[in-house]
Amino acid sequence: VGAGPGDPRLITLRGLECLARAGVVISDALAPRDLLRSAPPGAEIILAGSRDGRRTLDQAAINRIMIARARRGLDVVRLKGGDPTLFGRGGEEAEVLAAAGLPFEVVPGVTAALGAAATTGIPLTHRGHASSVTLATVHIGAGKSADAIDWSALAGAGTVVCYMGVGRLEATVRRLIAAGRRPATPAAVVRWATRPDQQVVAGTLRSIVSRARRAALAPPALLIVGEVVSLHSTLSWFDTGAGIDLSRTA
Ligand code: SAH
Repeated sequence: VGAGPGDPRLITLRGLECLARAGVVISDALAPRDLLRSAPPGAEIILAGSRDGRRTLDQAAINRIMIARARRGLDVVRLKGGDPTLFGRGGEEAEVLAAAGLPFEVVPGVTAALGAAATTGIPLTHRGHASSVTLATVHIGAGKSADAIDWSALAGAGTVVCYMGVGRLEATVRRLIAAGRRPATPAAVVRWATRPDQQVVAGTLRSIVSRARRAALAPPALLIVGEVVSLHSTLSWFDTGAGIDLSRTA
């Protein structure tokens, strides 16, 4: 189940339905903690994310737990930040369940890029600025080099959103410019998109590294690159207190 990008209200109705009947919830660190309150009082809650850079459960252990609980007849919800299949190993875990002969459903979620785009007022496509958007990860697996990434494809026209980019921000920006993206291209880093503590740093490819450093931006954050980022200054609504306050009408 995709938990959405951070604001617990951005889970889907189907996701909430699944949580409400879960016997077991195995939650990643990025899934909003508040959502766990939607599970039945007796449900077993397992926190499987990484804490302080260390994973509390490795992938093999998660797989074993999912299979064992499901075989006991329990409804297992594997709750993941954003969308489960985007840089979230959802595909790998579904393969494990398929191999074990267990029935499963995949509930999509609002991925971080879409959450960040909405709250920062950066439309990922726009008729005047970009007709394509690429979601990429610049996280390199152990033993792999950054050369494994097709930088010239990312440097082409259109919007690029890089997940897991904070630690690699400088290298990412350098590679994009080397591959031909103009240094004056608007760019933004968004941390904890859609949450009340969301942080946005905007600039250009030339300035974004030092600006993000000055703001001491830590993970989780993503980098958005492209002409559409120039709309942020006009369309940003999140920090202004705009939006519909449902607590007033309740
Ligand atoms: N499945 C998730 C992504 C998991 S990878 C999704 O669809 O959103 C983890 C990376 O996602 C983080 O390193 C960060 O780059 C990004 N991310 C997740 N939640 C975020 C948020 N609320 N704000 C900014 N970036 C976020």
